[in-house]
Amino acid sequence: MTAFSLEPAQLTWCDELRALAAERLRPLAEKGEPGRVNRALVAELGALGLLPRLFTSGALDLCLMRESLAHACTEAETALALQGLGAHPVHAHGTASQRARWLPRVSDGTAVAAFALSEPDAGSDAAALTLRAEPDTPAAPYTGGRVDGPSAWRLTGEKCWISNAPEADFYTVFARTTPGAGARGVTAFLVPADRPGLSGTPLDMLSPHPIGALAFDAVPVTADDVLGEPDRGFRVAMDTLNLFRPSVGAFAVGMAQAALDATLAHTSARDAFGGKLRDLQAVSHQVAEMALRTEAARLMVYAAATAYDAGAPDVPKRAAMAKLLATETAQYVVDRAVQLHGARALRRGHLLEHLYREVRAPRVYEGASEVQRGIVAKELYRPHRTPDATTEEAGS
Ligand SMILES: Cc1cc2nc3c(=O)[nH]c(=O)nc-3n(C[C@H](O)[C@H](O)[C@H](O)COP(=O)(O)OP(=O)(O)OC[C@H]3O[C@@H](n4cnc5c(N)ncnc54)[C@H](O)[C@@H]3O)c2cc1C
Repeated sequence: MTAFSLEPAQLTWCDELRALAAERLRPLAEKGEPGRVNRALVAELGALGLLPRLFTSGALDLCLMRESLAHACTEAETALALQGLGAHPVHAHGTASQRARWLPRVSDGTAVAAFALSEPDAGSDAAALTLRAEPDTPAAPYTGGRVDGPSAWRLTGEKCWISNAPEADFYTVFARTTPGAGARGVTAFLVPADRPGLSGTPLDMLSPHPIGALAFDAVPVTADDVLGEPDRGFRVAMDTLNLFRPSVGAFAVGMAQAALDATLAHTSARDAFGGKLRDLQAVSHQVAEMALRTEAARLMVYAAATAYDAGAPDVPKRAAMAKLLATETAQYVVDRAVQLHGARALRRGHLLEHLYREVRAPRVYEGASEVQRGIVAKELYRPHRTPDATTEEAGS
């Protein structure tokens, strides 16, 4: 396999995933309540064997799943992605007992995961997060480094824009263990939803998406809840985002392809000026441009995912480029598709009305487009920087 052509078996798998999305997942998505976690849909993703693949496959397979599911069922795509985003830190950085407790349930869809990094005052600048993890055991105060004893913390503060909140069964929570230390003073905790002091509120979004705010009122956590090492949590967050960023691009490519396919069908069937819409060169050239940009984005996504799987050194730059190009491209393609469909695309319930709302958020989350440009620029200038330059780009 190269970054530029998929194997026949991968193409067949993508076809199967599109069919599953249309036939098995779309009906369940339609029965869900907008803006709420759809547990039947999550369970079906488990029953179909897709959730376990989050932990056994690489970045390219993740992209193929997201792109293919998005083509026919964005809700299923998002449910799959959120399980991965919330649980990847457990898979990659958790202890044996954390993994044994949660990953089988994430895989069969009986436990819903969430990734809680953003705060009301720390979005793109995630290293500015202020949710406090304060030592709770005077006998064994936290002094930095690895915690071996009964050390414990209380979490106090807020998280905002957390997908699957407040209905998730557990949260990967990033909290400040060392005040004033920026990215170097953040710890990742696995916080079960039933911890005392944890509450949440749903948020109503443009495109119905299960999402909410969380309030932490002295929520107790112990050393057993730490993911990775104290004060090293920002690395957990960045590793997760490096894996997921190309796959946000894949989600966008899946939506762009769905918009393009709908446009090909519509412009071939719609009578206009004594022929079909596609007979107008101004129309067919727009469709050609949509296809061109979609394919370019797809290739960049596959290349970034392949680089991740190969452990290439330039993953942050490639992941940022792929996410940036694909999400901006999908916005362009869906907008063009709306234009070429005319009024019908704007009617509630039309595929393009749905995609027009869905396509907007990925340009903001997991690092806004401007933040991706910042990452690309930082990586480009890395060889030219002085040794004491230590800033971290984030954007959850
Ligand atoms: C649907 C959805 C789901 C989400 N799910 C999650 C989740 O599961 N977990 C989670 O932790 N967060 C989640 N988020 C939050 C998301 O990650 C943040 O919205 C994002 O990081 C941007 O932060 P902000 O909204 O506070 O915008 P701000 O940080 O206030 O930025 C606003 C705008 O300022 C500009 N800007 C910001 N920084 C720069 C810069 N360095 N250079 C140039 N321009 C800049 C950009 O245009 C940006 O869009 C979700 C958001 C949405 C919309």
